[in-house]
Amino acid sequence: MEKVIDESVQGNTLTLESNQGNTRKLYIESYGCQMNFSDSEIVASILSKQGFNTTNVLEEADLVLVNTCSIREKAETTVRKRLEKFNAVKKTKPHMKVGVLGCMAERLKDKLLEEEKIVDMVVGPDAYKDLPNLIQEIDEGRNAVNVILSKDETYGDVAPVRLNSNGVTAFVSITRGCDNMCTFCVVPFTRGRERSRDPLSIVAEVNDLWKKGFKEVTLLGQNVDSYLWYGGGLKKEFEKASEIQKATAVNFAGLLEMVALAQPKMRIRFSTSNPQDMTLDVIKTMAKHDNICNYIHLPVQSGSNRILKAMNRLHTREEYFDLIANIRRILPDCAISQDMISGFPTETEEDHKDTLSLMEYVKYDFGFMFAYSERPGTLAARKLKDDIPEETKKRRLREIIDLQQKHGLYRTQQHLGKIEEVLIEGSSKKSEVHWMGRNSQNTVVVFPKENYHVGDFVNVKINECTSATLIGEAIGYTANN
Ligand code: SAM
Repeated sequence: MEKVIDESVQGNTLTLESNQGNTRKLYIESYGCQMNFSDSEIVASILSKQGFNTTNVLEEADLVLVNTCSIREKAETTVRKRLEKFNAVKKTKPHMKVGVLGCMAERLKDKLLEEEKIVDMVVGPDAYKDLPNLIQEIDEGRNAVNVILSKDETYGDVAPVRLNSNGVTAFVSITRGCDNMCTFCVVPFTRGRERSRDPLSIVAEVNDLWKKGFKEVTLLGQNVDSYLWYGGGLKKEFEKASEIQKATAVNFAGLLEMVALAQPKMRIRFSTSNPQDMTLDVIKTMAKHDNICNYIHLPVQSGSNRILKAMNRLHTREEYFDLIANIRRILPDCAISQDMISGFPTETEEDHKDTLSLMEYVKYDFGFMFAYSERPGTLAARKLKDDIPEETKKRRLREIIDLQQKHGLYRTQQHLGKIEEVLIEGSSKKSEVHWMGRNSQNTVVVFPKENYHVGDFVNVKINECTSATLIGEAIGYTANN
């Protein structure tokens, strides 16, 4: 199951092959969404040219970096605890420097650098190319900070180093920032305004991954359907673009097609789709190309029109149902997953029931569900009292998760008896004698290894299921190998 926030990888240290000329050691830990993990690969790439090899042994590091997440309070609390730990280690290793990267940078720079003095360097998500200068500053004994958000930085010219990779699946960033201004969400403040990356650099990265043996890419962005390349710059400034720029602009459907055609044997996924921006063209492009997977992550957050409005989600429940109907009509086999928030300010039992009934209508394949966490600086924090008691938020969340599990099982049962193409990613977490891979719908499939290998496309007959996993047996290679 692909997760927006994958709890099992939170805090993963990332290591890559060492470059022989490098003499210093970098320890980098990442938290939050896939975009953050993808950013750590950019940071490692920049620092490998500055004399740093990565290590997963904290005590031997010259530089410790934490790529942080601010999306919920819990994520920030976890990072704070790690910083305390690093600070304790640093007391015994005076040469060690500690830096904070990513979403917590802007909001907490003064607190971390000046008040608490537990870090040497704070770097925002658009300032990674400045790392060589910032590291020189800290080497010379000064604190260093750069949290400036950019209008055009997309790191399109930095070839990310794939860290702890399975060599089969990779993430490719296509947009940065977000313009949606959902009232609960801190992303527009921490990662800046939305900008898209040059499609030619995206295709070049995908081609390079294919050459290196990768078989699947996930195009990443906070709101991929809003992708718009017109020569660079902020999405909101598209209006000011020249006629020629407008006429030659590439939207998300266009980009998807370019990537699908560039590597017809490579699986293409994307995440995340905001319902208000997903077009029929995107769904039709998915239908047109076999290598675009039948899976859409389509967060809705609430089933109540009143709450959707208060969240500034720019669609209604009815419009969402229309979109689901179009997806089901054009892509009958498409899996759909959700993000849901329980206990948004003012949410009544009636609103909560609307969420459950919306879920009952869609019967999502997967879901990522959270209790509302007030984030400083967001519109909701400024305008609305966080008035739903914690136990009510938790109880509603429990009901949402229970219903999702029921629907997950209903969906996995629909695969029983079918033969499905699976891309092998590695050994099953629970058994060394089983492979783990995914079908087009992104459901995890587990089956006996026999003589197959990581990276093979295999036809698997599905015999059993749980609410999140399919269990089967391989019956041969698919034509895709
Ligand atoms: N850009 C995507 C969108 O708008 O649908 C996803 C953004 S976020 C990285 C992933 C998920 O975290 C959101 O879809 C939402 O469900 C959840 N989230 C964001 N802010 C939250 C908050 N303040 N409290 C609880 N959950 C939150």
